[in-house]
Amino acid sequence: MFFLMAQDPPPPFPSPEELKVKITEFMKQNFGDRVSVAAITEPEPAAAEEDEKPEKADHNEFEFNLLPRDIKAHLDRFVIKQDEAKKVLAIAVCDHYNHANYLRRLEKEDARRAQEIEYIKQNVILVGPTGVGKTYLIKHIADLIKVPFVKADATKFSETGYVGGDVEDLVRELVHKADGDVNLAQFGIIYIDEIDKIAAAGNLIGRDVSGRGVQTTLLKLMEETEVPVRSMNDLQAQLQAAFEFQRRGKAKRETINTRHILFVVSGAFEKLKEQVARRVRQAQIGFRADPVQVMDNQLFQHVTTQDFIEYGFEPEFIGRLPVRVVCEDLDADDLFNIMKYSEGSLLRQYERAFRAYGIEISFEDEALRLLAEAAAKEKTGARGLLTVFEKLFRDYKYYLAGSGLTQLRVTADLVREPQRVLDRLKVEGRKLEAQMLETGARQFAEKFSSEHGVEIVFDETAVRRLVERAHDERMTMNDLCAHLFKDYQFGLNLIKKNTGRTKFILTAEAIDAPDKFLSEIVVKSYYPAAVAQEA
Ligand code: ADP
Repeated sequence: MFFLMAQDPPPPFPSPEELKVKITEFMKQNFGDRVSVAAITEPEPAAAEEDEKPEKADHNEFEFNLLPRDIKAHLDRFVIKQDEAKKVLAIAVCDHYNHANYLRRLEKEDARRAQEIEYIKQNVILVGPTGVGKTYLIKHIADLIKVPFVKADATKFSETGYVGGDVEDLVRELVHKADGDVNLAQFGIIYIDEIDKIAAAGNLIGRDVSGRGVQTTLLKLMEETEVPVRSMNDLQAQLQAAFEFQRRGKAKRETINTRHILFVVSGAFEKLKEQVARRVRQAQIGFRADPVQVMDNQLFQHVTTQDFIEYGFEPEFIGRLPVRVVCEDLDADDLFNIMKYSEGSLLRQYERAFRAYGIEISFEDEALRLLAEAAAKEKTGARGLLTVFEKLFRDYKYYLAGSGLTQLRVTADLVREPQRVLDRLKVEGRKLEAQMLETGARQFAEKFSSEHGVEIVFDETAVRRLVERAHDERMTMNDLCAHLFKDYQFGLNLIKKNTGRTKFILTAEAIDAPDKFLSEIVVKSYYPAAVAQEA
C-alpha cells in the first residue's frame, strides 16, 4: 500500500475554478447558503512580482534625518496651538527613528549586539478632548517623514469580540498603506483613539471583559512581535499564498516585525482629569479657587503612572507608553486662527467648492469671528467649524450655484441673518444672470448678421422670452439661439432674394414657435403685394 502511494504521482493542484467549486461546496455543507467565496484568482505573474517588492524594498532603505525643530516647523504650518504637544511629539519621533537608524547600522556590523540593545520605544499617550488636532498632528508627522499611518478606535476591538485578529489587522493595514512595501510598513505609525474606553476600571459598569485582552494584545505589538502579512482569517489571502507556494516551491517573507512601529494612543480621559484635579486641589487648598475646566498641560504635570493604573490600565501597558502629552481645548480665538492661518483651513475647501459653481467666495474677519464663536459652542473642537459651515452654507450652495452670481462676500451680516442676505443675493443673481443672457442674445444676433449676410434683431419681447427660456432650460444663450434659429439663414436669405429685404425684427413669437414664424414670413415674401397691403 505504502509502496503504491509512493509510485502514484501527487494529485494535480486544482485550477482556481475547480478550487472555488470545491470550497463553495464545502462551505455550503458546513455553513449553509450564507457564506460565499469571492473570486479566487491565481496571481498574475506581474502581480506576483509586485508582491515581491518588500524583499527588494530592503535595499530601498527608509531614510530619516530630521531635527525636532524641523518637525515642529512643519506642524506649525497646519496645526494651530498645541505647542507642547508638537514639541514633545517632535522629540519622540526623532528619538524613535534615530534609534531605528542606529540599530540598522549596528545590525550590519554586529547583528547579535543589535538584538541585545535595550531600548524603551517612545510610544505616546496623547490626552485631549475631541477635535483639537490629535489625529491631525500624527497624520502630518507621518506625511512629513513619509511613513504609512493607520488610525483605529480602541472600542472597535472590544466590540468585535475577536481581539487578537483585529489588532493585528492594524499592522497589516500599514502594509496596505505602504503599497505592499513591508519594509516601509515596519516604520509606520499606528494611532489608536479612545484608549481610555478600554481601561479595565470600566469593569465597574460591567462592559469590560475584553478591555484587558485588548491591552495585552496591544502590549505584544508595542513590544516586538512578528505579524503574518496574510491574516489567518483571510481565506483568499491564504489561498493566494498556497498558489504561490505551489508555483515557486518556496514561501517568501511572510511577517511584519513591529519593533520600529511607533504607537500613539489617545483619549479624552475625562475621569482621569477629575481624579487629578481633585488631588491637586486638595493639595493646594486655598490656592486654587477656580475649578479646572479641561486637562491642560499644567495639570497634566501632576499625572502619575499610578493615576493611569488606578484609571484601569495594566502597569505593563502604561509602562510601554512613556511619552505623555496633552492637546489643549480650543477656544473661539483658536478656531478663528485655524480658519485664518492653518494651511489646511476649511476656508480653502469652501473656496474650491464655490469656485466649482463659478463663484469666488471671500470672508471678512468679522464674519470669521462670529463663525468661530458659534463653532466653539459646539464643544467639538475644530470639528465644530465643519458643522457651523455646513449649516450656514447649505442653502447658499443650493440657490447660488448657477444663479449668475460670481462673487460672494461673507460678511458679519450674512452670518447673523443668512436667510435675508440669501434672498437679496438670489434677486441680485437673477438680475446678473438676465444681463448676461441679454448680452448673449445680442452677441448671437451680431454673429448671425455677420456670418449670413442678413441682419436679425431681437425686439424687447423676444429678449425677455429668450432670457426666460435659457434660464428655465439651463442652456447658454448661444446654444439656445443656435437651436431655435438653425434654419433661419436659409429662410431669411430666400426672402432677401425675393424682396431685397436684409433686416428682420424677431419677436416673442419667433422664440416660442421659430419654424412657424419663419415659414410665414417666407410665404409672404412670395406675395409682396399682400405684404404691402398688410403694411
Ligand atoms: P482629534 O483631536 O479628535 O483627533 P482631529 O485631529 O481629527 O481631532 O481634528 C479634526 C479636524 O479639525 C482636523 O482634520 C483639522 O482639519 C481640524 N483641526 C483640529 N485641531 C486643529 C488645530 N489645532 N489646528 C488646525 N486644525 C485643526
